[in-house]
Amino acid sequence: MNSLPVIGLEVHVQLKTKTKMFCSCSVEFGVEPNKNICPICTGQPGVLPTVNKKAVELAVKTALALNCKVHNESVFARKNYYYPDLPKNYQISQYESPLATDGFVEIELKKDSEKIYKKVYIKRVHIEEDAGKLLHAIGKEELDYSLIDYNRAGTPLLEIVSQPCLYSVEEAISYLVTLRDILRFIDVSDCDLEKGTFRVDANVSIAEVENSCEGEKLKLGTKTEIKNMNSFKAIKEALTYEIERQRKILTSGNKVVQETRLWSEELGVTKSMRTKEEAHDYRYFPEPDLLPLEIEEIFIEEIKKSLPELPLQKKKRFKNIYNLPDSDIDILVSEKVIADYFERVLTIYSQSYTQGDLKSVAKTISNLIITEILGLINQEGLTFDKNKIKEEYLAELVKLYYDGVLSSKLLKEVLEEVWYTQKSPKEIVQQKGISQISDIDELKKVIQEVIAENQKVVDDYKSGKIQAISALIGQIMKKTKGKANPQLTHQLLKDILDK
Ligand SMILES: [Zn+2]
Repeated sequence: MNSLPVIGLEVHVQLKTKTKMFCSCSVEFGVEPNKNICPICTGQPGVLPTVNKKAVELAVKTALALNCKVHNESVFARKNYYYPDLPKNYQISQYESPLATDGFVEIELKKDSEKIYKKVYIKRVHIEEDAGKLLHAIGKEELDYSLIDYNRAGTPLLEIVSQPCLYSVEEAISYLVTLRDILRFIDVSDCDLEKGTFRVDANVSIAEVENSCEGEKLKLGTKTEIKNMNSFKAIKEALTYEIERQRKILTSGNKVVQETRLWSEELGVTKSMRTKEEAHDYRYFPEPDLLPLEIEEIFIEEIKKSLPELPLQKKKRFKNIYNLPDSDIDILVSEKVIADYFERVLTIYSQSYTQGDLKSVAKTISNLIITEILGLINQEGLTFDKNKIKEEYLAELVKLYYDGVLSSKLLKEVLEEVWYTQKSPKEIVQQKGISQISDIDELKKVIQEVIAENQKVVDDYKSGKIQAISALIGQIMKKTKGKANPQLTHQLLKDILDK
């Protein structure tokens, strides 16, 4: 009988607000421990929480981007459990009536080097608050001890729960990358796995595939929940390990135990943390200190209008309009700032200059961004928003290239100069006197010299070895220090040789 891994993912995302979910404490990262705290987020008696409107706005924005139904009324609930990092002894979350339900995202998968698409269904999206942080220290004395930092307690989180409809590690990773890209595009979260602003728990089981007259049917198996994965690499390895572990158990005729397991990065295994019997009973009940969260339709409509084009739509559009290769598109659309920059440069170019057709200009701009600008950015350890080439200047550089003033080699050199000096490309070209040789007489002179010096190569060409021409062009480029206009050189050389 065939079997299939079934994965469902729960993602906790920290929302990009300035203050906490139910009080006005700052959520600033990396400050002195227990600095950003107040009676509300430390759970003092007699205090009342108030809802952070910005957090609700970001949550609704996310739910809409994930094609969810946003409910006009949702209810906050207390999730009761004791842990030292949870000063109130309960976490405010949403349970029976979450903010939004029934969404989906479309993900990209590779099949035989072709892109295919799959819808991944979202069960629910709800708002909750984060707990504090425990720092475990090993004491110098006999006792080990732990320290508590409540700065994170009460930070707004969004929990996004997928349906168990991911059937391979590849699908799970693609879903997570897609989700992260969407959340970054709509600017609701930094989604930094290392900083813990994007945390993933996975439910994994092995289903049996039964063939019946209605087609294939899945008989779900016992699931385990995997925690403690702090990078995409860890998620990939943990899921691969867990699927294999469960398969081995099942093929040897044993049963998978329903439990929570922790991924151990060092050992490369998942280890049992607690079984179903030891699982918490959270005794959820509606939060008595907060009214149900009422969201008016007009609020939802306003946010819907503010949603930008999402990554996958953008990728499809870039393909249709600019016909760029998928590898280019993946890089350009990996961040909204890069995609926006690319299109702004293209717009400036199209409005001011006429040389080159749209697709060719788009490819030239894409090449310059991907190989040159991103190269410089990586070299200096910057992020793309610190890009030092203004849109106008990149458009100007592309114009100089299409006008034949700059060869592709000079184009890169001048771009680098623009980066370091912040001068305009025109100014640099004028100052340095670097311009491509497009003067026919001047070029012809060099070509004649090269022909005279390379009689054997010329003979080869004339006897039918057409590719010998590139050796001659190489010589011309060398003599002109790369300043000869390549298209013109090729044409003139061919004309002379073929005479
Ligand atoms: Zn507070």
